[in-house]
Amino acid sequence: MRAPAKINLHLGVGAPREDGYHPLVTVYQAVGLYDDLTARQAADWSLGVNLPDWMDDDAVPLAGDNIVDRAADLLAAHHGVERTGEVHIAKAIPVAGGMAGGSADAAAALVALDRLWGLGTTDDDLLGLAAQLGSDVPFALLGGTALGVGRGELVTPVDDRGTWWWVVVPSDTGLPTPEVYRHFDKMFSDAPSQPVPADALLEAIATGDTWALADALHNDLEAAAIDLRPELGRLIERGEEAGALRGLVSGSGPTCVFLCGSADHARSLAADLSGAGHPVVLAANGPVAGAHLVSYA
Ligand code: ATP
Repeated sequence: MRAPAKINLHLGVGAPREDGYHPLVTVYQAVGLYDDLTARQAADWSLGVNLPDWMDDDAVPLAGDNIVDRAADLLAAHHGVERTGEVHIAKAIPVAGGMAGGSADAAAALVALDRLWGLGTTDDDLLGLAAQLGSDVPFALLGGTALGVGRGELVTPVDDRGTWWWVVVPSDTGLPTPEVYRHFDKMFSDAPSQPVPADALLEAIATGDTWALADALHNDLEAAAIDLRPELGRLIERGEEAGALRGLVSGSGPTCVFLCGSADHARSLAADLSGAGHPVVLAANGPVAGAHLVSYA
């Protein structure tokens, strides 16, 4: 299975609800930066993870705490079957980077194990299980470009016929999402209960005009992420000075994304930023498909 990272083109965040979750109006886009997940038949259950050189060895939890274990438990319990299989994840999506890598792996695991165990789970049930695993997991199943409401788990595909090019700059150190939300609550204690709507963003992507998209990108968590990590503000300025149409913190950060006008523009900006002290700089296009099967034997 291939499982793409996401960025949030619009992230409107409201004051926390009674259940503690923040209401969101968000527009997700799946981008061409992928974790790969393989599942094989086995008598027991095992999970292995391979990390690229640039990730810390202990970045991803193993043995029970991985979101893929939780996805497997949930699917097995839903059908009353035993959890078995040999699952392997090759990570490439920055961890705790605001790109929903864990959610992508969970979505891929649901689809792979459903197939491996011959369960034939309906799409509605898969989306329901995904929402129990995390707010971003239903979108990871869907992919493309989609509007997310509720706490982000209620997703609807939106019209997006463009191909957008992004430069993605991960940080060496992750920034836990809950910490960014706590900081947002401190900085914006007067946040409205209804998040900022995504109308301007939706209009911009429907036009296919890159400058219109650059103007409409919006992230309510950006100020909190930059306040916690001032170097992110400097990175965004640096990317825009180097020619990005717009720089933005991705979701809760600390990954930053830069909108470019073309694939060539993205490659040249990526080269420019990698020469400026950022060891990992990636170029990716979007929208791409959600978690999907690549080969089956
Ligand atoms: P989001 O944007 O959905 O909040 P994120 O991109 O900031 O998520 P993830 O990479 O999904 O963050 O990881 C968040 C935490 O989940 C990590 O710190 C890690 O400890 C834990 N985790 C559990 N399973 C995984 C996995 N398969 N891949 C990455 N992280 C995982």
